[in-house]
This record gives sequence, structure tokens and C-alpha cells, in this order.
Amino acid sequence: MNDGILTEEDRAERIEAARKIFAGPITFLKSAPALKFLPDPSAPEIAFAGRSNVGKSSLINALTNRNSLARTSNTPGRTQELNFFDVAGTGSAPEGALPLFRIVDMPGYGYAKAPKDMVKQWRFLVNDYLRGRAVLKRAIMLIDSRHGIKDVDREVMEMLDAAAVSYRLVLTKSDKIKASELAAVLEATAIEARKRPAAHPEIITTSSEKGMGIPELRAAIIEAVVA
Ligand code: GDP
Repeated sequence: MNDGILTEEDRAERIEAARKIFAGPITFLKSAPALKFLPDPSAPEIAFAGRSNVGKSSLINALTNRNSLARTSNTPGRTQELNFFDVAGTGSAPEGALPLFRIVDMPGYGYAKAPKDMVKQWRFLVNDYLRGRAVLKRAIMLIDSRHGIKDVDREVMEMLDAAAVSYRLVLTKSDKIKASELAAVLEATAIEARKRPAAHPEIITTSSEKGMGIPELRAAIIEAVVA
């Protein structure tokens, strides 16, 4: 759908609908350290990716209005897992009903001191997941506003492009830099996004700390779920 032709009223309605969904039940489903542990592909999935410390857990917690749904688990040496959360949706779903969609928290990457084996294991797990998951509707690629896109991010964007998984670039921690610097990073990120086959051309700027961009990101996620 083309956001460009949305009226302000449409936009406000979408934001409100998305807010309600994220205010509904959200529960941890499982961790998958390998593909054989993935849940049945019975609901659409939205996967979050980003370098360690990019603010991924904080963003998932801000989106879902929970303090500790997602926890930082990117310390080297820890098992690398895909964490799945069921988002039930609004309304009174019957017991055992399928979720509206699932949030997939992918293990962080780019930790400078990560042993080679771990990097390899990360690539295997993530690549297999990205390539083989028909229910994966969109990836949300997090980029730290202070740093912009780094080469490790480009490697992951290449994986997404190669797997033809559509993705959206989202700037995090935007409260940490000056407005003028943010505008420059946003512009550079958008220019790069437009050159990527599977990237959405528009970037969403967020701050989990200040709540900025959170309603818009919720709406963009729901739009991908129902697309
Ligand atoms: P993860 O490793 O990607 O899950 O990152 P975390 O969510 O654990 O965040 C890493 C650090 O950045 C923590 O100290 C957070 O408090 C901080 N952080 C995350 N998001 C924001 C934000 O929007 N603004 C500010 N100022 N700090 C943030």
C-alpha cells in the first residue's frame, strides 16, 4: 500500500489500531537455538535484527509497552537463539487460537570480541531462517542513529536482499544526537536504502527512551502483517 496517498485521518486510524494490538496480550513462546526448534509456521512473523547494543531489546519493550519482555542476551559465549513472541491481537480470541503475528528477536551481531565460531553459527542460523521461512513477512533492521549503517549491517542487508526478505531500516536512540546530525544520518540511510532491492525506501526514526517513532513503527509492523 502506498503511504503517500494516506490522509491524516487514515494515518491516525492505523496508528490507533496498531496501538490497540500492541496493548493486547503478548507472550513469550519459545527460543530456537537451531532450526529444528522453530515453532510451526502458523502465524506471520516480523523479525528484528541489529548489532549488539543497537537498542533492540529496548525497542521491542517500548513497542509492546513491557519493561522486560525482551532481554539483552547478546553477550558472547551465550547461546544464540531466535526468540519468538506471540502477539494475540485485539478481541476475545478463543483459548488456543493462533496469534495475529509473532515477533522474532534475532540474536545481535557485530560484537567485536565474538569468537569466529560464533559468528559462523550466527550466519548459519540466521541465513537458514531467512531463506526458509515463508511466514516471515518483514525484517526490521535497526541502525544506531549515532553510527549510521556499518559494514556488518551491510552484510546482513545483503543476506536479506539475497533471501528476498523485505525489510525496513529503523534508526534507534535518536534522542542521543543533535537534530542536525540526525537529519544527516537519516538522509544517508535513506539514500542507501533506496539502492537496496528489498529495503523499504522510508526510514523510521525512533527513541525507545522518549517514545519517538514508536506509534509509527507499530503501524508499519501491522501494515506488513496484514499485507
Ligand atoms: P540490544 O543489545 O540491542 O538489545 O540493546 P539494549 O536494548 O539492551 O540497549 C543497549 C543500551 O542502549 C542500553 O544501555 C539502553 O538503555 C540504551 N538504549 C536503548 N535504546 C535507547 C534509546 O532510545 N535512547 C537512549 N538514550 N538509550 C537507549
